[in-house]
Amino acid sequence: MDRKRCVALIAHDLKKQDMADFAKAHEQALARYDIVATGTTGGRVLAACPDLAVTRLKSGPLGGDQQIGALIATGDVDILVFFIDPLTALPHDVDVKALTRLATVYDIPMALNRATAERMIDFQPA
Ligand code: PGA
Repeated sequence: MDRKRCVALIAHDLKKQDMADFAKAHEQALARYDIVATGTTGGRVLAACPDLAVTRLKSGPLGGDQQIGALIATGDVDILVFFIDPLTALPHDVDVKALTRLATVYDIPMALNRATAERMIDFQPA
């Protein structure tokens, strides 16, 4: 693979602080990746880690989730991290389902919580 691996970051509103904290705690590991993120999530990650290479897409509800889906379909996303909020009715549930389906179809790792994301980010592919 001659490009950097790419991680996609998405967080529901009540999980955005968790995503910013995760990015800060793992900034060094994330710096090895190209990062794409939905608009607001990407803004929060950049505020926490201004040196990371984050490409901000549209806000999730306005199509950012589907932009990430398209990047999965073209093989341009290697890891998906989606911090969902499990305590409220899932915001735009159909987008969560669509991304879960695409991550399954294209067999890429998908983390729905921080514990999984930490293990995936630190994993060094051979
Ligand atoms: P956002 O989108 O980062 O633009 O808020 C996240 C989401 O899909 O809920």
